[in-house]
Amino acid sequence: MMDRTPVYDVVIVGAGIVGLATAHEVVCSRPHLKVALVDKEPLPARHQTGHNSGVIHSGIYYRPGSLKALLCHQGAELLTRFCEEEHIPWERCGKVVVATHAGELPRLAELLRRGVANGVPDLRLLSEAELRTIEPHARGLRALHVPSTGIVSFPRVAQALAERFRARGGNLLFKHRVTAMATHSAGIRLETPRGSLEAGVVINCAGLQADRLARLAGLAPACRIVPFRGEYYRIRRERRHLVRHLIYPVPDPRFPFLGVHFTRLVDGSLEAGPNAVLAWSREGYRKRDVNCRDIVETLGFRGFWRLVGRYWRPGVLEMVRSFSKKRFVAALRVLLPELEADDLLPGGAGVRAQAVGTNGALIDDFVIHKERAMVHVLNAPSPAATSSLAIASHIVGAVRDILAGLPRKC
Ligand SMILES: Cc1cc2nc3c(=O)[nH]c(=O)nc-3n(C[C@H](O)[C@H](O)[C@H](O)COP(=O)(O)OP(=O)(O)OC[C@H]3O[C@@H](n4cnc5c(N)ncnc54)[C@H](O)[C@@H]3O)c2cc1C
Repeated sequence: MMDRTPVYDVVIVGAGIVGLATAHEVVCSRPHLKVALVDKEPLPARHQTGHNSGVIHSGIYYRPGSLKALLCHQGAELLTRFCEEEHIPWERCGKVVVATHAGELPRLAELLRRGVANGVPDLRLLSEAELRTIEPHARGLRALHVPSTGIVSFPRVAQALAERFRARGGNLLFKHRVTAMATHSAGIRLETPRGSLEAGVVINCAGLQADRLARLAGLAPACRIVPFRGEYYRIRRERRHLVRHLIYPVPDPRFPFLGVHFTRLVDGSLEAGPNAVLAWSREGYRKRDVNCRDIVETLGFRGFWRLVGRYWRPGVLEMVRSFSKKRFVAALRVLLPELEADDLLPGGAGVRAQAVGTNGALIDDFVIHKERAMVHVLNAPSPAATSSLAIASHIVGAVRDILAGLPRKC
């Protein structure tokens, strides 16, 4: 009997912004290839891409020379150009990173150094008085002004990428959860509850599930995704005037998370957050969401216990802030003393896919691993949404030779 399994040159797993950008890059740069993008959900951007702060980062935080530094810089430029082409609203609103005590000043100076090294334009250290001219209600000793930071709706960008991908002949297959992968002499076979697919090249952009997908493909990645929920509050409409741009604290260099900040959204609303608490479910957006498999895997991972051993104190403080609005407000009032608890209304939450090494280290840089005819995006936390179009071209570059040698199947 004839095998009717659909055959693709390239299958991308995950219709978040990284998978969509990659699928779009493949169809644009190799229009003759047959490409499918599969996702277990019924629509794109259902996970990290649909639950984030919407900030187009400029690249001040990242170690010069790192993939994050390079791809954030390139990605922000590509993204704003894409938004212009697609008429997606975005705004270069700028941000201030505010040092509120003397101990933070050397870290602020280091951010300036990194920003300059990473090519971020127009950075300026502000005095207390200068800060007030930009953000009249913020308080701090000094601040770093980053005028190039922007805001956008990443789900809107994802939607536009999906439409362009389809328009260029790409196949978007929703409700297709990849449950198994096997490499054989002619390619890679993927199993889903809706049937099998054959692929010449597979690109794993499964975000919160990326390490599991890699293990399904036979890899033994040295890191594991540990999910961290980030919770937001919305600021009452009548108090939005307290924040003109984006206001951030100076981040703790030990953590890739940036600390609770104030973010304006493109629809004019204002949010505070996100915090970073261990999530008991990789795709659970409420405090009460629990997934037994996720818990067992996290607790069974040696790296998790080493992480707890290193950082239990800040971890406990974040948990306390998650359950106590009073503590959350107290953290925000350090930056904005006029803020009152009543100004904060319940908001949404997102879950970060943070890779942790077996030594308990929070892996800071993007991790994109090529293994024969597969690419696995094993760590793509913030600013991966900003960087997505540059990550896509990096991935396609990694499999350039394989794509060039693919036998035509369609
Ligand atoms: C709270 C928070 C705030 C953030 N703020 C910012 C910000 O301001 N700026 C910024 O640049 N970045 C930010 N980020 C980071 C950014 O959102 C992510 O880096 C980015 O969205 C990652 O995209 P992705 O495509 O890798 O993952 P995702 O968007 O999570 O997509 C992965 C996809 O894979 C699918 N999938 C998983 N397993 C399977 C399977 N077995 N079969 C089929 N499909 C599967 C999922 O359904 C999902 O659609 C933030 C993240 C969070 C959580």
